[in-house]
Amino acid sequence: MIEEPKPPEYRVGIGTDIHRIVEGRKLMLGGVHIPFPAGLLGHSDGDVVLHAVVDALLGAAGLGDIGTLFPDTDMQWKDADSKVFLYTVKEQLERKQWEVVNVDLTIHTEVPKLGPMKGQIRRCIAGLLGMDFAAVNVKAKTNEGLGEIGAGEAMAATAVALLRRKPRRTL
Ligand code: MG
Repeated sequence: MIEEPKPPEYRVGIGTDIHRIVEGRKLMLGGVHIPFPAGLLGHSDGDVVLHAVVDALLGAAGLGDIGTLFPDTDMQWKDADSKVFLYTVKEQLERKQWEVVNVDLTIHTEVPKLGPMKGQIRRCIAGLLGMDFAAVNVKAKTNEGLGEIGAGEAMAATAVALLRRKPRRTL
């Protein structure tokens, strides 16, 4: 008997993060070093963009959250390169047969202007996830001077990711 092919399974996930802007740290956004006189406070490198993407992927796959997987009480992750978090999660997704269809994200910050950097961030995230450049979109917007982000005291990021799981072949 020949079984009807099953449709692929799709899951969507959302991730958000916020970090305080402080002097004396390198600014890392989406795995890219951004020239800026301050950086983001955090146990790891404080890459607010990669943290939001990691949470979107974990959320879509039903695998929990970044704080559970890489706790900020674990010295192993002190000043860690957040690209390691994204790569580790990508491997977990692959083990469960998930592939990433697309990632869309918004960086919320008053300064610096990220226009010229958005392409670099897209390329970096697409490279880490083994995806087409076109399947990763990066947007940046100010907070219109409102709240901590508007005052230039913090940066935030919001990300969504769509996953597809190929059905197992049945003979
Ligand atoms: Mg974070």
